[in-house]
Amino acid sequence: MDHRRVEGDREYVARLDHGGGWRGQIEDFAESEGIDAAFFFGLGAVQDATVLFYDQDDQEYYPAEFDEPLEVTSALGNVSHLDDGRFAHTHATLSRPDGSMVGGHLDSATVFAGELYVRELDTRLEREHDDVTDLDLWPL
Ligand code: ZN
Repeated sequence: MDHRRVEGDREYVARLDHGGGWRGQIEDFAESEGIDAAFFFGLGAVQDATVLFYDQDDQEYYPAEFDEPLEVTSALGNVSHLDDGRFAHTHATLSRPDGSMVGGHLDSATVFAGELYVRELDTRLEREHDDVTDLDLWPL
């Protein structure tokens, strides 16, 4: 297991803007604060969501779209560099009124309300293509 020792740096709490994108706001925030690596978690509610499932055999992401209000029971992820920008790799579990759950790799969602905790790390993480998985992973 490749690894790198890191230490926590700045910490933030944040409230996501109503009507904005869940992932895009995190990426914009990381860009504006100059964050090169971070982990975050959050909760709240969204008005819709598109989650992706990575098919390990096909090595393709397949989307599932939910055009309905959902609770964000938990969202967690990290921030690193991908191509020319920050990428907020985000996974989320989302609940419906009857308590049933959907979830996955959160591609996009329109925020109803959201609260975040962000912990910056004192390193720079930059994703690179991995031939085995065909994913953009951290070379550590
Ligand atoms: Zn993912």
